[in-house]
Amino acid sequence: MMKKLFKCTVCNFIWEGENPPAVCPKCGQPHEKFAELTSENADKVYKSERTNDIHAEIITLIDRIIALSREGIELDLDPACVSGFKQAISEGYIIKQRAKAEIENHIGKGKW
Ligand SMILES: [Zn+2]
Repeated sequence: MMKKLFKCTVCNFIWEGENPPAVCPKCGQPHEKFAELTSENADKVYKSERTNDIHAEIITLIDRIIALSREGIELDLDPACVSGFKQAISEGYIIKQRAKAEIENHIGKGKW
């Protein structure tokens, strides 16, 4: 069952509950500055929440892959390894940028 969502019209903070908070936890504006999201927009927020979390986790994992690959390049055991680590960095970068672009697109469509 979906709860109501309210959005601060000053800073875009989203609050879940029966009523808006007394003051915005982010910018401190009073509850009058909150507007209830339409059920269509609330639905977008709920459906996108897990997806955006997955993208964020992928970005974190890729950062780890990039750090490990840099360490492997530093160790320089043999050319095949170094080449593989360099490839992992460039492929990781593509995956990371794709995930960031998706998050940005979602935010632009109110899916966050
Ligand atoms: Zn606010």
